[in-house]
Amino acid sequence: MSSQSLSQPLSFVSTRHGTAPTPIDDALIAGLAPDGGLYVPERLLQLTLPAKAPATLAETAAWVLAPYFGGSVLRDALPALCARAYDFDAPLMPLKNGRDHVLELFHGPTAAFKDYAARFLAEALGALRTARGDTETTTILVATSGDTGAAVAGAFHKRPGFDVVILYPDGRVSPRQAHGLECWGDNVRTFRVAGTFDDCQRMAKAALADRDLREKRALTSANSISLGRLLPQVAYYAHTALQHMQAHGEALNLIVPTGNLGNAAAAWLARRMGLPIGEIVLATNANDVLPRYFAGAPYSPQATRATLANAMDVGAPSNFERLTCWLGDDKSLRASLRAFAVDDDVIRRTIAAAPERHGIVACPHTACALHVLEILRAKGDKRAWSVVATAHPAKFETIVEPLIGHAVPLPQALAACLARPAHGEALKADDDALKARLLPARASANVTARRAAAVHD
Ligand SMILES: *Cc1c(COP(=O)(O)O)cnc(C)c1O
Repeated sequence: MSSQSLSQPLSFVSTRHGTAPTPIDDALIAGLAPDGGLYVPERLLQLTLPAKAPATLAETAAWVLAPYFGGSVLRDALPALCARAYDFDAPLMPLKNGRDHVLELFHGPTAAFKDYAARFLAEALGALRTARGDTETTTILVATSGDTGAAVAGAFHKRPGFDVVILYPDGRVSPRQAHGLECWGDNVRTFRVAGTFDDCQRMAKAALADRDLREKRALTSANSISLGRLLPQVAYYAHTALQHMQAHGEALNLIVPTGNLGNAAAAWLARRMGLPIGEIVLATNANDVLPRYFAGAPYSPQATRATLANAMDVGAPSNFERLTCWLGDDKSLRASLRAFAVDDDVIRRTIAAAPERHGIVACPHTACALHVLEILRAKGDKRAWSVVATAHPAKFETIVEPLIGHAVPLPQALAACLARPAHGEALKADDDALKARLLPARASANVTARRAAAVHD
C-alpha cells in the first residue's frame, strides 16, 4: 500500500544534524539522538492511501508504521505488536451540534492519550530486547508533570527486563493523577519530589548523564521527545482521518491541546504523509509561547506557568525543534499551523458550559481545545472541526466536578487503579538524593524484575 520502496530501509537522523543515519531499532532504544537533538526520519514519506479504510486502529497503525520499520528486526512482528499496543479505540464522537466532533483519546489504562505511545514503546522495546538477547535490566527514568509517568508505568508494569522510576512534583498534580503514579509497585518505583517539575526534569537529566551511575545501571528515558513516543501517535490520526473521509468525504480539521507539541507534531506528520487532514490548530493554556510565535513574534521560550491544564504547563515546547527541522523557516511554519492560548478563567467557564453547549464533560486540557473551536466560530469559520480530547475528565475531578455540579463517573481502568494501594516514596529535590536511591537498589531491582518475569503473561 505504500509508495515507499522497502528495499532501502529508512534511517533516522538528528534535528541537529550531528549524528550518522541511524537504523530505527537503535533510534528507538536511544530515544534521544547522541548530539542532544531529536530523531526524525531522514526523509518525509508520502503514502498511497488504501482504497478502503482499515477496520481497526491496530490495522491502521501497522499500515502507517510499516514504512518506518522496513529496516527493523520487528518488521514482521509489527501487526501483532500493534494489535497488543492499540487494543482500545479512539472513537470520534459527535458534539451536540452534530457537525463537529470530539476525538476521544482517553480510553486507555491511564485515561490519557499518552497510553497509546507508551504501550507501543513498551511492546517495541520488549520485543527488541528479546530479539537482541539482552539480559540486563533497563531502568526507564521518567520526570513527569502527570500523565506521562502513569502511562509509562502502566505500559512497563511487570514487563520482564524493565524497571521504571518516576519522579513527580509533590502537590502539583491532581490527587487522582498522583494515585495513578503511585498505584503500581513491583518493577515501578515512584518518587514524589519536594520541588517543581523542572526540579524533577533536572534530576532525571543529571542521573542520565552520570557516568558512575550508568556504569552500574542501564538507564534510559521515555520522555515526549523519544522517537518511540512520536511515531505511534501518528496511528490514531491516520485511522480517524481515513474513517472520517470514508464517512463524510471531507478531510479532518483538528484542534489539538498542546504542551510539548508531541501530539500535534504527530498530527502534522500524518498530514504530511498524505492522510486526509485539513487544518491543524493548536490550543495551549496560559503558557503562550506557541500562540505568540505563530502570531508573528520571535520564538522565545518562557518560564513555565502553573495552570489548571497541568499536563500542558510547558514554557519551551520540546518538539518545536522537529517542526522547524521539517518546515525549515518561520514563514512555512506559520503557514502550516495556527495556535491560540486559553487562560484559567476561560478554562473554568468552558468546562462549566460544555455539557449544555457541546454535550460533553471536558477535562481542563480538552477545554482549551473546545474554547478554540468557539474562537474559530466567532471568527466566522464554518468548517467542521474535531476537537482532540487528551484526558478523561474524571482524572481532574477536583477541578471539573465543582464546575459542572455533579460527579463524573470513573472509567473502569481508572477505578481499578484507584482501588490499588499507593507505593510512593518522598524524595528531596536533589540530584544526589536520587542517585543514592538508584544505586543500592540495583540488586533488589533485579530480583523484582525476575519476580515480575515469573508473573508476566
Ligand atoms: C501530555 C498532555 C498534553 C500535551 O501533549 P503534548 O504532546 O506535550 O503537546 C495535553 N493533554 C494531556 C491530558 C496530556 O497528558
